[in-house]
Amino acid sequence: MTMKNILTAAALSMALGGMATAAELVPLADESVETAKVLRDKALENDEAYELLASLTTEVGARLAASPKEAEAQAWAVAKFLELGFDRVWKEPVMVPKWTRLSESAHVAEPFAQPLTITALGKSVSTPEGGVQAEVAHFATFEDLKAADASEVEGKIVFISNRMERFKTGAGYGPAVRARGAGASEAARKGAKAILIRSIGTDTHRLPHTGGVNYEEDAPKIAAAALSNPDADQLVRILGYGETVRLDLTIQTTMEEPVEMFNVIGEVTGSEAPDEFVVLGSHLDSWDLGTGAIDDGAGVAITMAAANLIQDMAPKRPRRSIRVILFSAEELGLIGARQYAEAHEGKDIDKHIIGGESDFGAGPVWALASTVNPAALHVVDKMAALMGPLGVVRADRKAYGGPDVGQLGKVGMPVVDLMQDGTDYFDLHHTADDTLDKVDPVALRQNVAAWVVFTYLAADWPGTFR
Ligand SMILES: [Zn+2]
Repeated sequence: MTMKNILTAAALSMALGGMATAAELVPLADESVETAKVLRDKALENDEAYELLASLTTEVGARLAASPKEAEAQAWAVAKFLELGFDRVWKEPVMVPKWTRLSESAHVAEPFAQPLTITALGKSVSTPEGGVQAEVAHFATFEDLKAADASEVEGKIVFISNRMERFKTGAGYGPAVRARGAGASEAARKGAKAILIRSIGTDTHRLPHTGGVNYEEDAPKIAAAALSNPDADQLVRILGYGETVRLDLTIQTTMEEPVEMFNVIGEVTGSEAPDEFVVLGSHLDSWDLGTGAIDDGAGVAITMAAANLIQDMAPKRPRRSIRVILFSAEELGLIGARQYAEAHEGKDIDKHIIGGESDFGAGPVWALASTVNPAALHVVDKMAALMGPLGVVRADRKAYGGPDVGQLGKVGMPVVDLMQDGTDYFDLHHTADDTLDKVDPVALRQNVAAWVVFTYLAADWPGTFR
């Protein structure tokens, strides 16, 4: 929200009879602000987040949702919360379908025989026994596939070659990722045997990006995989010769019945209103290719470290509690977050006073966005001011709360976005290159510092964000 919006909101509320005039705003105590500043500066000298991230990515590594590795990660999280001295630590059950990657291979059969580097998309079904041998039907974008006649697609392997654009905000992801999410069902409805997409990623490495495919109920299920960016370029060049291009594609996966997993929760108890809490979210599952350092080990480490720094170093506990939720199975479709929102809606959702999520890698925070009651904007502005020395500005857009915490936003919880610089995020996202060496410990400290400011002030201010 901009200053102009704030003034408009204030003017509007005065016009409505002084609902939230300046005189009635619940003030933020100087003492709270001073403590937040001290904690922010301590965070800049503290490597707890990096140590947590190194521990998770080294001792557990990749942790595909519903796999034994996700269960190990959940045990890791419970043990860490207890070791760090969180007041309450518990698990809430989540049922998660169990998808397993077995093998994948692709070759150009003609005109220029050669292997291609691919990865099966998450939740992809297998190709029929013996694989698929078929001609390629090339579309530049998902929209082109949508517009195509079934006769162009039937019996073929669809290839969508759209390239994701690089932006600091990650704005290139939304338009590009439709090919991954919705491409398979669209192609299958038109009779395709399988689908290959260009990786949804901004790198030039020969490492394909996985990610979930969303099969629609009313469409047949066909195997889906992503080519690395250089392999997609190669296939486009081969198609450019104008000859018939035939591929061999084999994908083997399994999908088993849902198994019981958990959202793991650690809470720091508030001093005056312990039954109200600020929510810090992230997800504990990762894809199976890398070690899930940036997606989303970083978010796990940042939020755990921020809450822990407050409980260890604040002169007194903030008024309200701080609830750190490590969601299960985000990558398979926000499964943990959806089940959490369902379980708490109509029960204690009103005690979730505000929340945010760290799930955009390990780049520095550069902007703060919010979706709160106008009478709480002065508190968010103060948070942004305290984050100013960290390089953070007030964002000129509403917050949505991130993929998981956004599910709580949908059922009425106010949210903030601590927007991170995602310029390089999609070079690594969902690839084998998502490993600890890509994380800058200094940027991780900066993230914790920003989260500490938000968390402490939100928990200690007595007013409402709703
Ligand atoms: Zn993520």
